[in-house]
Amino acid sequence: MNLYEETKFIMKKYNLFANKSLGQNFLIDEDVVNNIVKSSDVSKEDLVIEIGPGLGTLTKVLLENAKKVICIELDKRMIEILENRFKLYDNFKIINDDVLKVDLNNLIKENKSVDIKHVKIVANLPYYITTPIIMKLLEEKLNIDSITVMIQKEVASRLCTIPGKKDTGSITYGVYYYSEPKIMFDVPNTSFIPEPEVTSTVIKLDILKEPRIKVKDEKFLFKLIKVSFMQKRKTLLNALVNGHIFENKESAEKCFNELRLDLKIRAENLSLEEYGDLSDYLKS
Ligand code: SAM
Repeated sequence: MNLYEETKFIMKKYNLFANKSLGQNFLIDEDVVNNIVKSSDVSKEDLVIEIGPGLGTLTKVLLENAKKVICIELDKRMIEILENRFKLYDNFKIINDDVLKVDLNNLIKENKSVDIKHVKIVANLPYYITTPIIMKLLEEKLNIDSITVMIQKEVASRLCTIPGKKDTGSITYGVYYYSEPKIMFDVPNTSFIPEPEVTSTVIKLDILKEPRIKVKDEKFLFKLIKVSFMQKRKTLLNALVNGHIFENKESAEKCFNELRLDLKIRAENLSLEEYGDLSDYLKS
């Protein structure tokens, strides 16, 4: 049986239909599954956390390559399927919950035994919450090595560009602050059932030991970036005055001049370091 037939068989056996509102697109391409696991560099020294295992297609290959795999799946219907499918694997664990509500720091602490050297996140993410999941994984400063995930192609280019270059969005800075992002490969929509409307891309974020820059107030840095992008068609200076980061245009111009920032520069043209300088200036 190939992966397409196996997936169809499991869905029929359990009378299961994909739930679109949970972002369910099941992988049916064996090469893609193997390439995701290869990209994640998972080994027998690793604890893997898989988000949204679905029917367990990716899980199966992860179980064969990792020391332990903990899956977090929101859809109750999948739990019975996964428990039956992997009952002979003693390195499999499933949690029925919304990943956004799980205390991942605690989960890692509880499961990181002495024979586990690294913790890695691997997933074919539900696309409707790609961004909040990735930001949670980064902002909670988890003790992890990397995040290898499949996401929509256009989101991937926003996450993996260098700030200031093409496709920069406010999230670009968050990803770049915490990690070294890489595009691994594209996946056509024919690799799933049902087929999503968009092309997908596998990305890998190698987590940095320390954030890329040091600032006085990290929370304020990201607030500043968020406000800057709220009116990204305007000049950054106007966006920051309108967003009440500066009291008035004069104080904004004074700051821009001191930091040697072009008064006409736009939000997406600043480097992370320049946002860092701006943030520290405002916090001094
Ligand atoms: N890993 C499977 C595969 O590659 O075939 C399924 C991937 S599917 C794109 C996304 C999975 O995430 C679904 O199984 C869905 O039920 C699950 N999911 C959706 N929202 C979730 C959430 N908030 N927390 C955990 N899992 C979620």
